[in-house]
Amino acid sequence: MIRVTEEGGGTVVPLYSMNGNSGGAVDHGVLLHFLEETISRLRAELPVEGLLVSLHGATQTTQVEDACGLLLQQLRAVAGEETVIAVSCDLHANVTALMQKSVNYICGYHTYPHEDFFETGCRAARLLLSALSGGPAPRSVRTTVPMIVPASSYTTLRGPFGALMRYGESLVEAGELLDFSVFQMQPWLDVADAGSAIVTVARDKLTAKRRAVDLAERLFHIRSTFRAELYSIDEVISRAERNHSGKPIILVDAADSSNAGACGDSPAVIARILARGSHVKAAISLNDAQAVDAIYRAREGEAISVMLGGARGGGFYQPVRVEARVRSFHDGHFVQEGPAGRGLHNNIGRTAVLSAGSMDILVCEGMSAPGDPQLYRHRAEGVPAGGGEGLHLLPGGLRAHGPGDLRDRHAGYRPHPSGSGTLQAAAALLLSVYGHQRILHPPARIDADGAARRQMRKRRSELCMKRDARRAGTGSR
Ligand SMILES: [Zn+2]
Repeated sequence: MIRVTEEGGGTVVPLYSMNGNSGGAVDHGVLLHFLEETISRLRAELPVEGLLVSLHGATQTTQVEDACGLLLQQLRAVAGEETVIAVSCDLHANVTALMQKSVNYICGYHTYPHEDFFETGCRAARLLLSALSGGPAPRSVRTTVPMIVPASSYTTLRGPFGALMRYGESLVEAGELLDFSVFQMQPWLDVADAGSAIVTVARDKLTAKRRAVDLAERLFHIRSTFRAELYSIDEVISRAERNHSGKPIILVDAADSSNAGACGDSPAVIARILARGSHVKAAISLNDAQAVDAIYRAREGEAISVMLGGARGGGFYQPVRVEARVRSFHDGHFVQEGPAGRGLHNNIGRTAVLSAGSMDILVCEGMSAPGDPQLYRHRAEGVPAGGGEGLHLLPGGLRAHGPGDLRDRHAGYRPHPSGSGTLQAAAALLLSVYGHQRILHPPARIDADGAARRQMRKRRSELCMKRDARRAGTGSR
């Protein structure tokens, strides 16, 4: 955003920034603090020609469900109608009507796993500059798709969702659209106004609207591909034991994704490997500050007996006693290799690597970016990173968040419907276990496809009626 604005001759004045990882609803006081700081700084700079806002886009507080909508509404009220506001969001944003109404442009990531943070900011800034250039301002349209889908059942790298994104990009390359975004709301949000959304930007509103509906229908059409294929932990361990491909199997316990706000403290795989007496080589990460305390009382090389997992109060997991040797200690600081979050400084707190039989277990105080290759290459020195027949567990990783050279090799793992407690964790792939209370208009979950289909039909006929009314009114086209 900054580079594009400055290259376009603009002067950038920073306002205020806060960030945090996924979790429960944000304390409302945090939003009030953010609003107060941002708005007082904005008032001091007025008038401004444009506002660039970088949001995740799916924030809920203890008092409001649409925190981003409220924030943008207030920024609009203070900045005035003449100010152009452009926003960048995560692909998993819940882009509400209030958000869309409050600003001129919203751009979402085109990649999942997310790699285009920088490029998305550039897109938003370019639209803003374009609107300020004096010609007719690009027009933006939002349409919604009545469904929510598991966050780890698709990627933009390949498959039908990847093809949809390539299609959207082809419309931009052809010049028909200036920008497009496909938002798949993160499904662990439980808010009344929920669902997927398409936002398009074109030189004229009719084109933007036509392509928004086109993309929405294509997204809805591929809904069945978002159903996750599930495996039990034992099925995956068995597969790893039989694996002689020379490549590791990456087991992604997406239900325990600390990226998604889960505790990242599931010892379920450790428990099954121990129970089976399996000799499969495994590299495992675990979020457990209590265990770190205990391990730090030992010395490198010392044999210890330690309880692992289930420590963070979620009540999903029972801790497991593990006899291990302390391999190494680390301060937890590292620079992310990416592609997701490349170059970001990360701190997972005090970290130790244990050897327990054929398992290498990395235990830290506050896991984030659990799929980053640096965790494997440096934190857990000696853990096989690119070969071997072992099994890697990325407890909080998303499906394609593995190291780039491993990306195409994972077998994948989903909590089994009749399997372990992982089902109930924060980021489970079976949406029916969430018990959504607030989502209205029967959950447009793909598990409840019939309701979603009815809503989509209704939406389509409403759009057609509006279009017919407009044509009748203007007598054109
Ligand atoms: Zn995301």
